[in-house]
Amino acid sequence: MPRRRKQFPCGHQGYGQVCHYCAQLAQAKVLEAAEREQARLAQEQARLARQEWEATFASDVVDLQGLPRWIVLKARQVIAEILAGADYRRFKGKRLHHDRRVISIPLSYDYRLICYDTGDRIEPRSVLSHEDYNVKKPLA
Ligand SMILES: [Zn+2]
Repeated sequence: MPRRRKQFPCGHQGYGQVCHYCAQLAQAKVLEAAEREQARLAQEQARLARQEWEATFASDVVDLQGLPRWIVLKARQVIAEILAGADYRRFKGKRLHHDRRVISIPLSYDYRLICYDTGDRIEPRSVLSHEDYNVKKPLA
């Protein structure tokens, strides 16, 4: 018995139980919706990660907001070690000539952690970029 094309309720013509054209279209729509949902989730995840990152600045003893992420992480590591009693010279820190109480610790070519020697402890005070450092001269 020869197969006969029939007309589906959707108006398309074809063979079989269901309209393949509409079935394909429905599948494409499902995939598209899944992709959209995935993109939305990724965006939401990125927003949460950003929020989480912003929240970490609250516990810093020095304002590190706006700095490159790896400088923030490096600064936190050095600050923690300095606060724990590590010698600033371990990080190639140097006392400034114009004020020996001020200690400059290089975090990178561009960034310095500025600390202040109160006499009985070394207090991290700020992170400055190379330009800030040259223009302002750290007052700590
Ligand atoms: Zn159809």
